[in-house]
Amino acid sequence: MKAGKILISGAGIAGLSTAIQLKKNGIPFRIIEKSHAFETRGYAMAIQEEGINAARELGILDDIREWGVERDIQRIERCDGRVITSNNPATKGEGYTINRNQLHQILLKKVQNIEFGISAETIKDADNGKEVEFSNGTVEKFDLVIAADGINSALRPLLNPGKSIFDTGLSVWNVHVKDYFPTIIEIWNKRLITAFYPLPEGTSVSFFVKKPFTSIKESGSRKEDIKHFFKDCTHPEIGRVLEKCDEGIFFGSVRNVITPRWYRDRILLIGDAAHGVSPLSGMGANLAMADAAGIGKVLSEPEIHMDDFVQYRKQQAYKAFKIGQKRKRRALLKAPLSIIRNTTISSGNWNY
Ligand SMILES: Cc1cc2nc3c(=O)[nH]c(=O)nc-3n(C[C@H](O)[C@H](O)[C@H](O)COP(=O)(O)OP(=O)(O)OC[C@H]3O[C@@H](n4cnc5c(N)ncnc54)[C@H](O)[C@@H]3O)c2cc1C
Repeated sequence: MKAGKILISGAGIAGLSTAIQLKKNGIPFRIIEKSHAFETRGYAMAIQEEGINAARELGILDDIREWGVERDIQRIERCDGRVITSNNPATKGEGYTINRNQLHQILLKKVQNIEFGISAETIKDADNGKEVEFSNGTVEKFDLVIAADGINSALRPLLNPGKSIFDTGLSVWNVHVKDYFPTIIEIWNKRLITAFYPLPEGTSVSFFVKKPFTSIKESGSRKEDIKHFFKDCTHPEIGRVLEKCDEGIFFGSVRNVITPRWYRDRILLIGDAAHGVSPLSGMGANLAMADAAGIGKVLSEPEIHMDDFVQYRKQQAYKAFKIGQKRKRRALLKAPLSIIRNTTISSGNWNY
Protein backbone atom coordinates (compact mmCIF):
# COMPACT_ATOMS: atom_id res chain seq x y z
CA MET A 1 0.00 0.00 0.00
CA LYS A 2 1.12 3.56 -0.68
CA ALA A 3 -0.15 6.65 1.17
CA GLY A 4 -2.80 8.41 -0.87
CA LYS A 5 -5.80 10.27 0.46
CA ILE A 6 -6.49 9.63 4.10
CA LEU A 7 -9.56 10.07 6.28
CA ILE A 8 -8.99 10.86 9.97
CA SER A 9 -12.10 10.23 12.04
CA GLY A 10 -11.98 12.19 15.31
CA ALA A 11 -10.27 15.49 16.11
CA GLY A 12 -9.07 14.74 19.64
CA ILE A 13 -5.44 14.39 20.71
CA ALA A 14 -4.66 11.47 18.36
CA GLY A 15 -6.59 12.81 15.33
CA LEU A 16 -5.16 16.34 15.47
CA SER A 17 -1.63 15.04 16.04
CA THR A 18 -2.02 12.78 13.01
CA ALA A 19 -3.29 15.70 10.92
CA ILE A 20 -0.20 17.72 11.88
CA GLN A 21 2.07 14.88 10.78
CA LEU A 22 0.27 14.30 7.48
CA LYS A 23 0.32 18.00 6.70
CA LYS A 24 4.04 18.11 7.45
CA ASN A 25 4.65 15.23 5.04
CA GLY A 26 2.41 16.63 2.31
CA ILE A 27 -0.06 13.73 2.50
CA PRO A 28 -3.62 14.75 1.56
CA PHE A 29 -6.30 14.12 4.20
CA ARG A 30 -9.71 15.03 5.51
CA ILE A 31 -10.35 15.25 9.24
CA ILE A 32 -13.88 14.89 10.58
CA GLU A 33 -15.27 15.43 14.07
CA LYS A 34 -18.64 14.11 15.19
CA SER A 35 -19.40 16.88 17.67
CA HIS A 36 -20.33 20.38 16.59
CA ALA A 37 -18.06 22.01 19.15
CA PHE A 38 -15.38 20.68 21.44
CA GLU A 39 -16.06 19.86 25.07
CA THR A 40 -14.46 22.50 27.27
CA ARG A 41 -14.31 20.48 30.50
CA GLY A 42 -10.65 19.79 31.09
CA TYR A 43 -8.55 17.70 33.42
CA ALA A 44 -4.83 17.70 33.98
CA MET A 45 -2.64 15.21 32.18
CA ALA A 46 0.93 14.15 32.74
CA ILE A 47 3.19 14.42 29.69
CA GLN A 48 6.15 12.13 30.12
CA GLU A 49 9.03 10.74 28.09
CA GLU A 50 7.05 9.22 25.21
CA GLY A 51 4.79 12.26 24.98
CA ILE A 52 7.77 14.62 25.15
CA ASN A 53 9.45 12.84 22.23
CA ALA A 54 6.21 12.88 20.23
CA ALA A 55 5.62 16.56 21.06
CA ARG A 56 9.10 17.37 19.76
CA GLU A 57 8.27 15.52 16.53
CA LEU A 58 4.93 17.35 16.25
CA GLY A 59 6.59 20.72 16.81
CA ILE A 60 4.60 21.52 19.98
CA LEU A 61 7.16 20.89 22.72
CA ASP A 62 7.82 24.59 23.30
CA ASP A 63 4.07 25.19 23.71
CA ILE A 64 3.87 22.40 26.28
CA ARG A 65 6.83 23.94 28.10
CA GLU A 66 5.02 27.28 28.06
CA TRP A 67 1.59 26.05 29.19
CA GLY A 68 2.50 23.08 31.35
CA VAL A 69 3.85 22.86 34.86
CA GLU A 70 7.17 21.11 35.22
CA ARG A 71 7.27 17.97 37.35
CA ASP A 72 8.34 18.72 40.89
CA ILE A 73 8.96 16.71 44.06
CA GLN A 74 6.39 13.90 44.28
CA ARG A 75 5.24 13.14 47.81
CA ILE A 76 2.81 10.35 48.51
CA GLU A 77 1.10 10.25 51.89
CA ARG A 78 -1.36 8.10 53.78
CA CYS A 79 -4.71 9.43 54.91
CA ASP A 80 -3.30 10.14 58.37
CA GLY A 81 -0.64 12.37 56.79
CA ARG A 82 2.33 10.04 57.22
CA VAL A 83 4.67 10.16 54.23
CA ILE A 84 4.97 6.96 52.16
CA THR A 85 7.53 8.31 49.72
CA SER A 86 9.00 11.52 48.45
CA ASN A 87 11.09 11.52 45.33
CA ASN A 88 12.26 13.91 42.68
CA PRO A 89 10.76 13.02 39.29
CA ALA A 90 13.27 15.28 37.58
CA THR A 91 15.54 12.23 37.75
CA LYS A 92 13.14 10.63 35.24
CA GLY A 93 13.73 13.36 32.65
CA GLU A 94 11.62 16.19 31.33
CA GLY A 95 7.92 16.03 32.20
CA TYR A 96 4.92 18.32 32.66
CA THR A 97 1.32 18.42 33.71
CA ILE A 98 -0.99 20.28 31.38
CA ASN A 99 -4.71 20.86 31.07
CA ARG A 100 -6.19 18.61 28.37
CA ASN A 101 -8.04 21.59 26.91
CA GLN A 102 -4.81 23.52 26.65
CA LEU A 103 -3.05 20.65 24.87
CA HIS A 104 -6.03 20.36 22.53
CA GLN A 105 -5.86 24.10 21.79
CA ILE A 106 -2.14 23.85 21.05
CA LEU A 107 -2.81 21.09 18.52
CA LEU A 108 -5.86 22.88 17.09
CA LYS A 109 -3.81 25.94 16.20
CA LYS A 110 -1.91 23.80 13.70
CA VAL A 111 -4.96 22.18 12.06
CA GLN A 112 -7.39 24.47 10.27
CA ASN A 113 -9.46 22.13 8.12
CA ILE A 114 -11.59 20.18 10.63
CA GLU A 115 -15.07 19.30 9.43
CA PHE A 116 -17.44 19.43 12.42
CA GLY A 117 -20.73 17.62 12.97
CA ILE A 118 -19.96 14.79 10.57
CA SER A 119 -19.12 11.11 11.01
CA ALA A 120 -18.34 8.08 8.85
CA GLU A 121 -21.51 5.98 8.72
CA THR A 122 -20.57 3.07 6.47
CA ILE A 123 -17.23 1.93 5.10
CA LYS A 124 -17.10 -0.45 2.14
CA ASP A 125 -14.32 -2.00 0.07
CA ALA A 126 -13.63 -0.16 -3.17
CA ASP A 127 -10.94 -0.65 -5.83
CA ASN A 128 -7.67 -0.26 -3.91
CA GLY A 129 -9.34 1.72 -1.19
CA LYS A 130 -12.30 2.29 1.07
CA GLU A 131 -15.55 3.96 0.12
CA VAL A 132 -16.90 5.99 3.01
CA GLU A 133 -20.47 7.18 3.30
CA PHE A 134 -20.73 10.16 5.64
CA SER A 135 -23.59 11.20 7.92
CA ASN A 136 -24.40 14.07 5.53
CA GLY A 137 -25.04 11.55 2.73
CA THR A 138 -21.88 12.25 0.73
CA VAL A 139 -19.60 9.41 -0.42
CA GLU A 140 -15.85 9.50 -1.03
CA LYS A 141 -13.03 7.04 -1.62
CA PHE A 142 -9.91 6.97 0.59
CA ASP A 143 -6.71 4.95 0.58
CA LEU A 144 -6.67 4.67 4.35
CA VAL A 145 -9.12 5.39 7.17
CA ILE A 146 -7.57 6.31 10.52
CA ALA A 147 -9.95 5.82 13.43
CA ALA A 148 -8.97 8.35 16.10
CA ASP A 149 -12.46 8.48 17.56
CA GLY A 150 -11.64 7.85 21.20
CA ILE A 151 -12.48 5.31 23.86
CA ASN A 152 -16.04 4.73 22.58
CA SER A 153 -14.82 4.38 18.97
CA ALA A 154 -17.58 3.71 16.46
CA LEU A 155 -15.06 2.23 13.99
CA ARG A 156 -13.32 -0.17 16.39
CA PRO A 157 -16.03 -2.89 16.06
CA LEU A 158 -15.35 -3.08 12.30
CA LEU A 159 -12.00 -4.67 13.17
CA ASN A 160 -12.87 -6.16 16.57
CA PRO A 161 -16.47 -7.32 16.67
CA GLY A 162 -16.32 -8.71 20.25
CA LYS A 163 -16.23 -6.85 23.55
CA SER A 164 -13.17 -4.62 23.76
CA ILE A 165 -13.92 -2.17 26.55
CA PHE A 166 -13.53 -3.33 30.16
CA ASP A 167 -14.32 -1.77 33.50
CA THR A 168 -11.33 -1.61 35.87
CA GLY A 169 -13.61 -1.55 38.94
CA LEU A 170 -12.49 2.02 39.66
CA SER A 171 -14.59 5.17 39.47
CA VAL A 172 -13.24 8.70 39.39
CA TRP A 173 -14.33 12.22 40.30
CA ASN A 174 -12.26 15.07 38.94
CA VAL A 175 -12.33 18.65 40.21
CA HIS A 176 -10.44 21.83 39.39
CA VAL A 177 -9.42 24.05 42.26
CA LYS A 178 -8.22 27.52 41.34
CA ASP A 179 -5.44 29.26 43.29
CA TYR A 180 -4.63 26.07 45.18
CA PHE A 181 -1.10 24.67 45.09
CA PRO A 182 -0.50 21.78 47.48
CA THR A 183 2.94 20.19 47.62
CA ILE A 184 1.60 16.66 47.55
CA ILE A 185 1.04 14.38 44.56
CA GLU A 186 -1.04 11.48 45.91
CA ILE A 187 -2.84 10.15 48.98
CA TRP A 188 -3.32 6.37 49.22
CA ASN A 189 -5.66 4.43 51.42
CA LYS A 190 -6.90 0.85 50.76
CA ARG A 191 -9.89 1.65 48.53
CA LEU A 192 -9.02 5.25 47.68
CA ILE A 193 -6.45 7.22 45.69
CA THR A 194 -6.40 11.01 45.50
CA ALA A 195 -4.11 12.42 42.80
CA PHE A 196 -3.10 16.10 42.60
CA TYR A 197 -1.94 17.51 39.24
CA PRO A 198 -0.57 21.06 39.29
CA LEU A 199 -1.69 23.48 36.59
CA PRO A 200 -0.63 27.10 36.11
CA GLU A 201 -3.91 28.41 37.55
CA GLY A 202 -4.44 25.85 40.34
CA THR A 203 -4.69 22.09 40.78
CA SER A 204 -6.70 19.35 39.11
CA VAL A 205 -7.60 16.69 41.66
CA SER A 206 -8.80 13.18 40.82
CA PHE A 207 -10.51 11.07 43.48
CA PHE A 208 -10.36 7.41 42.56
CA VAL A 209 -12.43 4.89 44.48
CA LYS A 210 -12.31 1.13 44.19
CA LYS A 211 -15.98 0.64 43.40
CA PRO A 212 -17.56 0.05 39.99
CA PHE A 213 -19.22 3.10 38.46
CA THR A 214 -22.53 1.28 37.95
CA SER A 215 -22.79 0.41 41.64
CA ILE A 216 -22.49 4.03 42.79
CA LYS A 217 -25.79 5.86 43.18
CA GLU A 218 -25.25 9.59 42.82
CA SER A 219 -26.96 11.73 45.46
CA GLY A 220 -27.30 14.82 43.27
CA SER A 221 -24.31 16.56 44.86
CA ARG A 222 -20.98 15.17 43.67
CA LYS A 223 -19.21 17.08 46.40
CA GLU A 224 -21.29 15.24 48.99
CA ASP A 225 -20.63 11.92 47.22
CA ILE A 226 -16.86 12.48 47.45
CA LYS A 227 -17.24 13.48 51.13
CA HIS A 228 -19.16 10.26 51.75
CA PHE A 229 -16.59 7.98 50.12
CA PHE A 230 -13.60 9.77 51.64
CA LYS A 231 -15.12 10.35 55.10
CA ASP A 232 -12.56 8.09 56.81
CA CYS A 233 -9.65 9.82 55.11
CA THR A 234 -8.72 12.59 57.51
CA HIS A 235 -5.91 14.05 55.39
CA PRO A 236 -6.28 17.86 55.57
CA GLU A 237 -5.78 18.32 51.80
CA ILE A 238 -9.00 16.37 51.08
CA GLY A 239 -10.95 18.78 53.28
CA ARG A 240 -9.22 21.75 51.67
CA VAL A 241 -10.11 20.60 48.13
CA LEU A 242 -13.75 20.00 49.03
CA GLU A 243 -13.99 23.35 50.74
CA LYS A 244 -12.53 25.21 47.76
CA CYS A 245 -14.15 23.42 44.80
CA ASP A 246 -17.57 24.10 43.34
CA GLU A 247 -20.09 21.56 42.00
CA GLY A 248 -18.62 21.47 38.45
CA ILE A 249 -17.27 17.98 39.10
CA PHE A 250 -16.69 15.24 36.53
CA PHE A 251 -17.65 11.67 37.49
CA GLY A 252 -16.95 8.60 35.37
CA SER A 253 -15.79 5.01 35.22
CA VAL A 254 -12.19 4.03 34.63
CA ARG A 255 -12.06 1.69 31.67
CA ASN A 256 -9.48 -0.09 29.60
CA VAL A 257 -9.72 -0.79 25.89
CA ILE A 258 -8.05 -4.00 24.86
CA THR A 259 -8.20 -4.76 21.16
CA PRO A 260 -6.39 -7.58 19.37
CA ARG A 261 -6.65 -5.97 15.94
CA TRP A 262 -5.52 -2.41 15.21
CA TYR A 263 -5.17 -2.62 11.46
CA ARG A 264 -7.01 -4.46 8.73
CA ASP A 265 -7.93 -3.72 5.15
CA ARG A 266 -6.96 -0.04 5.15
CA ILE A 267 -8.55 0.80 8.50
CA LEU A 268 -6.16 1.74 11.32
CA LEU A 269 -7.05 2.38 14.97
CA ILE A 270 -4.95 4.83 16.98
CA GLY A 271 -5.19 6.58 20.37
CA ASP A 272 -7.88 5.50 22.83
CA ALA A 273 -9.76 3.83 19.97
CA ALA A 274 -6.97 1.22 19.90
CA HIS A 275 -5.75 1.22 23.49
CA GLY A 276 -7.67 3.08 26.19
CA VAL A 277 -5.41 2.84 29.23
CA SER A 278 -6.34 3.81 32.79
CA PRO A 279 -5.69 7.47 33.75
CA LEU A 280 -3.63 6.03 36.61
CA SER A 281 -0.96 5.15 34.04
CA GLY A 282 -0.77 8.83 33.04
CA MET A 283 -0.06 7.62 29.51
CA GLY A 284 -3.19 7.79 27.29
CA ALA A 285 -2.47 11.13 25.61
CA ASN A 286 1.25 10.35 25.48
CA LEU A 287 0.45 7.20 23.52
CA ALA A 288 -2.02 9.03 21.30
CA MET A 289 0.60 11.62 20.28
CA ALA A 290 3.26 8.96 19.83
CA ASP A 291 0.94 6.87 17.62
CA ALA A 292 0.45 9.93 15.45
CA ALA A 293 4.13 10.83 15.32
CA GLY A 294 4.86 7.23 14.30
CA ILE A 295 2.17 6.93 11.65
CA GLY A 296 3.33 10.18 10.07
CA LYS A 297 6.75 8.62 9.53
CA VAL A 298 5.37 5.29 8.31
CA LEU A 299 3.11 6.93 5.73
CA SER A 300 5.87 9.12 4.37
CA GLU A 301 7.98 6.10 3.43
CA PRO A 302 7.90 4.72 -0.13
CA GLU A 303 6.76 1.28 1.09
CA ILE A 304 4.36 1.21 4.01
CA HIS A 305 4.93 -1.45 6.65
CA MET A 306 1.87 -1.16 8.79
CA ASP A 307 2.42 -4.43 10.63
CA ASP A 308 5.78 -3.31 12.05
CA PHE A 309 4.25 -0.04 13.16
CA VAL A 310 1.30 -1.76 14.85
CA GLN A 311 3.56 -4.31 16.51
CA TYR A 312 5.75 -1.59 18.02
CA ARG A 313 2.84 0.56 19.17
CA LYS A 314 1.22 -2.48 20.79
CA GLN A 315 4.35 -3.04 22.87
CA GLN A 316 4.27 0.60 24.05
CA ALA A 317 0.56 0.44 24.89
CA TYR A 318 1.03 -2.82 26.76
CA LYS A 319 3.75 -1.19 28.90
CA ALA A 320 1.38 1.69 29.72
CA PHE A 321 -1.42 -0.75 30.53
CA LYS A 322 0.88 -2.58 32.96
CA ILE A 323 1.94 0.71 34.59
CA GLY A 324 -1.74 1.53 35.20
CA GLN A 325 -2.36 -1.91 36.72
CA LYS A 326 0.76 -1.76 38.87
CA ARG A 327 -0.06 1.69 40.20
CA LYS A 328 -3.59 0.61 41.06
CA ARG A 329 -2.36 -2.52 42.86
CA ARG A 330 0.36 -0.67 44.78
CA ALA A 331 -1.82 2.17 45.92
CA LEU A 332 -4.77 0.05 47.02
CA LEU A 333 -2.97 -2.56 49.09
CA LYS A 334 -4.52 -3.45 52.44
CA ALA A 335 -2.56 -4.21 55.59
CA PRO A 336 -0.32 -6.16 56.10
CA LEU A 337 0.85 -5.81 52.47
CA SER A 338 0.53 -2.03 52.59
CA ILE A 339 2.87 -2.01 55.62
CA ILE A 340 5.48 -3.97 53.66
CA ARG A 341 4.96 -1.62 50.69
CA ASN A 342 5.40 1.49 52.84
CA THR A 343 8.55 0.14 54.44
CA THR A 344 10.01 -0.85 51.08
CA ILE A 345 9.16 2.46 49.44
CA SER A 346 10.47 4.60 52.29
CA SER A 347 13.71 2.59 52.42
CA GLY A 348 14.25 3.65 48.80
CA ASN A 349 14.07 0.14 47.37
CA TRP A 350 11.04 0.89 45.27
CA ASN A 351 11.18 2.40 41.86
CA TYR A 352 7.91 4.34 42.03
C1 LIG B 1 -9.56 11.93 34.37
C2 LIG B 1 -8.57 11.58 33.26
C3 LIG B 1 -7.22 11.78 33.50
C4 LIG B 1 -6.28 11.47 32.47
N1 LIG B 1 -4.96 11.69 32.72
C5 LIG B 1 -4.04 11.44 31.74
C6 LIG B 1 -2.65 11.72 31.96
O1 LIG B 1 -2.23 12.12 33.05
N2 LIG B 1 -1.76 11.50 30.93
C7 LIG B 1 -2.20 11.03 29.72
O2 LIG B 1 -1.34 10.86 28.83
N3 LIG B 1 -3.49 10.74 29.49
C8 LIG B 1 -4.44 10.95 30.47
N4 LIG B 1 -5.75 10.66 30.23
C9 LIG B 1 -6.14 9.99 28.97
C10 LIG B 1 -6.21 10.92 27.77
O3 LIG B 1 -7.09 11.98 28.00
C11 LIG B 1 -6.70 10.11 26.57
O4 LIG B 1 -5.94 8.94 26.46
C12 LIG B 1 -6.55 10.92 25.27
O5 LIG B 1 -7.40 12.06 25.32
C13 LIG B 1 -6.92 10.04 24.08
O6 LIG B 1 -6.91 10.80 22.90
P1 LIG B 1 -7.77 10.34 21.65
O7 LIG B 1 -7.54 11.35 20.61
O8 LIG B 1 -7.51 8.92 21.35
O9 LIG B 1 -9.28 10.42 22.15
P2 LIG B 1 -10.12 11.73 22.48
O10 LIG B 1 -9.22 12.80 22.97
O11 LIG B 1 -11.24 11.27 23.34
O12 LIG B 1 -10.67 12.22 21.06
C14 LIG B 1 -11.62 11.51 20.30
C15 LIG B 1 -12.35 12.50 19.40
O13 LIG B 1 -13.15 11.78 18.47
C16 LIG B 1 -14.45 12.36 18.42
N5 LIG B 1 -15.39 11.32 17.99
C17 LIG B 1 -15.99 10.36 18.74
N6 LIG B 1 -16.75 9.56 17.98
C18 LIG B 1 -16.63 10.01 16.70
C19 LIG B 1 -17.15 9.57 15.46
N7 LIG B 1 -17.99 8.52 15.38
N8 LIG B 1 -16.82 10.26 14.35
C20 LIG B 1 -15.99 11.36 14.41
N9 LIG B 1 -15.47 11.80 15.57
C21 LIG B 1 -15.77 11.13 16.71
C22 LIG B 1 -14.68 12.89 19.81
O14 LIG B 1 -15.69 13.89 19.85
C23 LIG B 1 -13.29 13.42 20.15
O15 LIG B 1 -13.11 14.75 19.72
C24 LIG B 1 -6.72 10.93 31.23
C25 LIG B 1 -8.09 10.72 31.01
C26 LIG B 1 -9.01 11.04 32.01
C27 LIG B 1 -10.50 10.80 31.75
